[in-house]
Amino acid sequence: MSGAARRTSGTGALAWLLLLTSPAAIAEFRGDKTIVVSPELKVSIGEGDEITLSARPLPGEGLDAFVKRFTEDPRTKSEILSRNEGVKLLRNDVFVRVPYRLLSENYRRIAIEALFPRDASDAQGWVHRVSALTGKPESLWRIAEWFTGDGLNYREIRAANGLESLATESGQVVRIPLKLLTPTFRDEAGAAATAPTLPLEFGRDEKGRYALYRLQRGEALYTAVVVRLTGRLHAEDVNAKAAEIAERSGITDVRSIPVGYAVKIPVEDLSPEFRPPDDPARIEEEKGRLEATQFVNRVRAVNLAGVTFVLDAGHGGRDTGARVEGVEEARHVYDLACRVERLLRAHTRAAVVPTVRRLTPCSEGRSDAVSDSRSARVMTNPPYAIDDPVAGVNFRWYLANSVLRRAEEHGGSEDRTVFVSLHADSLHPAVRGLMVYIPGEKYLKTSFGKSGDLYRARREVREEPRVSFSRRERIKAEGVSRHLAEKIVGAFRALGLPLHAFQPIRRNVIRGGREWVPAILRYNRIPARVLIEVCNLNNPDDRKLLVSRNYREKVAQAIVSALVDFYGGPGAQTVTARRGGSPPEAVDSQPETERR
Ligand SMILES: [Zn+2]
Repeated sequence: MSGAARRTSGTGALAWLLLLTSPAAIAEFRGDKTIVVSPELKVSIGEGDEITLSARPLPGEGLDAFVKRFTEDPRTKSEILSRNEGVKLLRNDVFVRVPYRLLSENYRRIAIEALFPRDASDAQGWVHRVSALTGKPESLWRIAEWFTGDGLNYREIRAANGLESLATESGQVVRIPLKLLTPTFRDEAGAAATAPTLPLEFGRDEKGRYALYRLQRGEALYTAVVVRLTGRLHAEDVNAKAAEIAERSGITDVRSIPVGYAVKIPVEDLSPEFRPPDDPARIEEEKGRLEATQFVNRVRAVNLAGVTFVLDAGHGGRDTGARVEGVEEARHVYDLACRVERLLRAHTRAAVVPTVRRLTPCSEGRSDAVSDSRSARVMTNPPYAIDDPVAGVNFRWYLANSVLRRAEEHGGSEDRTVFVSLHADSLHPAVRGLMVYIPGEKYLKTSFGKSGDLYRARREVREEPRVSFSRRERIKAEGVSRHLAEKIVGAFRALGLPLHAFQPIRRNVIRGGREWVPAILRYNRIPARVLIEVCNLNNPDDRKLLVSRNYREKVAQAIVSALVDFYGGPGAQTVTARRGGSPPEAVDSQPETERR
């Protein structure tokens, strides 16, 4: 999901959080208002609308690291010291205060989202709702400071909103134009353009709570309601849920539902973000999301120097993956992986570690055809010829964990290691485009390991037979993986490649009434890890794309661009622009299935 959905769905939920958490969560001291984001992090607003973030240091974290984490600027250290009675030794039980002005962009966004959950954003800019948390409405000057970095911009904000007065009133809406916003708020507002707020009404009947959604012109029950609002994607799930919802709503023919017809969706079927603000699942989801937002990649790596990229082509060997109309997932994602690897080696300094290798070398010829991947093996020691798909997946994450360990032993770090698994989906035929799975925090709670001769025979398993994650590791993984996923979605968008229409980033799979994170992500210790479903093989347009080499080349470019961008490099067009010696047909052309 984009940051936009995060915002538009945020309405009111944090206010509820306050009521539901312990009284200690709200400190009303001299008019201060404090929001507890996590056990380690609080945000307060006080006298004169001063926003202050208070945080406890992490175990073993020194002052310099603490300052870097929250402000990204070592020069702020002396001011932080003076604001905290000269704290020299950080203690786990002492909160250190950091004024809003000194915070990094990311922590500013966290502070604003915590204090003003009813704020929203759209293609025109940020929409701030005056909340008067200290008892007095916020001044235009402060609002200008928070969102634009400069109080003097109050004049432009005032003009843009046609305001006579400099004072605001509680509940008033103040719009901050896109061009004035600081980059983080601007990015979030830009993303909002694709995720408009949905007009849902809530009610209750003898069968329980429901949401009412009125079908718009051209919308179908399957996509506009079931796929979008309930998160179901697989044909059998979508069809079953559509039948249930049709019955509940008194629809007899799902193919001819009048425009404006009020469809009733049981609240328990809705994805958390579409539920009412007081729904526990929604509150939990938003709290988790806000906490994970703290973790974004902060490492800069010019040309990806020092970055280790673990590249996983899904399936292979006896495991063909999805097969639709003769199009085989394993072959096509292997070809895609070859393209990603070639681009990375030609244009970056990243160390590429494929999890899977064929006996024959990568060949990305000038025809659309792809070689088979029957000979593909997982590159453990010794390699594993993929006889059993489940073992194939387990060996991949064991291998990834081993690569991370080795990188760390050789001066690398987990923050310079990335894992990407490439797949193509087989979903309801109406669904199309890219989907990126990230490891949702709440699905990573188990400790896990494999035993038996097959496993013990491999060095990677013997090195670390079991994995488990601390709470911080789980939250960090969700945060940085979402950051990477946002870059991938952005790169696909920039290159005009199809994206899933509603929620291209997902923290779990929903299928057959169960929810989980794919095993390749669940037991993987590389924090930034994603599984990419490049498209849906059951959708005829997507299938046509995947069999064209031009599309696969573009997808490879998008992935490399996203990686460069993730590490602070230039944006999405760079890889295309620098591709001097590549076949001309692969540069800046539409996939040929789209030319027509
Ligand atoms: Zn797959």
